[in-house]
Amino acid sequence: MRGKGPGSPPEDLRVGEELSSCPRCGYGAGFHVAFRRRGRSLAVFLICPSCSDRFTAGEWNVPTGEPRPFEPDLDEGP
Ligand SMILES: [Zn+2]
Repeated sequence: MRGKGPGSPPEDLRVGEELSSCPRCGYGAGFHVAFRRRGRSLAVFLICPSCSDRFTAGEWNVPTGEPRPFEPDLDEGP
């Protein structure tokens, strides 16, 4: 089933003027924020504090802050 539990992909929401209430259960005081690793960045998603349903709102990624892998073309001096 879509949008249920940690294994399933979060449902992508189209945000109008504001997104602060859960479209599933109506809880209206915002969301928890969680992260899922996607290579060297983290995808941010939302979890409803009331019904625990998971959502995304567009592409929201943050860098992990880890150093990038060694790249000879960039990292080796002349
Ligand atoms: Zn909810």
